[in-house]
Amino acid sequence: MSGRNCGSARITTVLLDLDGVLMDHRAAAREAVGAWLGERATPDVVDAWFASMAVHLAEWRAGTSTWAEQRRDRLRDVLPLLGEPVGTDEELDALFESGYLPAYERAWRGYDDAAPALAALRAAGYRLGVLTNGTETQQRAKLRVLGLADAVGPVFTAEAVGAPKPDPRAFLAACAGLVVAPEEVPYVGDEPETDVLGARGAGLSAVLLDRDGTAPPEETAVIGSLAELPGLLRP
Ligand SMILES: [Mg+2]
Repeated sequence: MSGRNCGSARITTVLLDLDGVLMDHRAAAREAVGAWLGERATPDVVDAWFASMAVHLAEWRAGTSTWAEQRRDRLRDVLPLLGEPVGTDEELDALFESGYLPAYERAWRGYDDAAPALAALRAAGYRLGVLTNGTETQQRAKLRVLGLADAVGPVFTAEAVGAPKPDPRAFLAACAGLVVAPEEVPYVGDEPETDVLGARGAGLSAVLLDRDGTAPPEETAVIGSLAELPGLLRP
């Protein structure tokens, strides 16, 4: 293995986020709301869906809601905006699984820069892994659909490791699973606090993937595309 140097640390392994880094989750979610609701997917409704998703996924990450309940809560927030009644838990589950979810799954697509960057990193001698906040079933299915399941190395989900980013335990569990010291690993994520500050808090280095040009001005380890990653890691 040909390790690289970045500052004083030898980098052997690159750990990557999934949503927003390898897969365009926001585009998929936006497309799914449109497919599910048709002309009722007004900008206000789409904004409300994204806002609700952020709130209730945060509750799931904090352990105050279950995976099923955060899905129901999103529907409880948005159905009244559509003038529709909020049904029982069973009715909400059926609606999520027949409406939004299959449309979201049909919209899963990888970023164009993902597969080439993963190949370039492997060719440069780095080991790879994925650490993602989400469930085993859904996150592994995304990687299969994207055709990246065999390209990313070991996959660690918040569900499987028992802690979500930015909890240091999530990053340390992934490093333990890869049998690598945290200081040898940069984490590549798209969220400044969850990913970048979270990784640094666990002793990893971090790179912010800023696809939309909204990086905090004080952040210095920033790339606009995964194509820039191999060059950034090179000494
Ligand atoms: Mg992300």
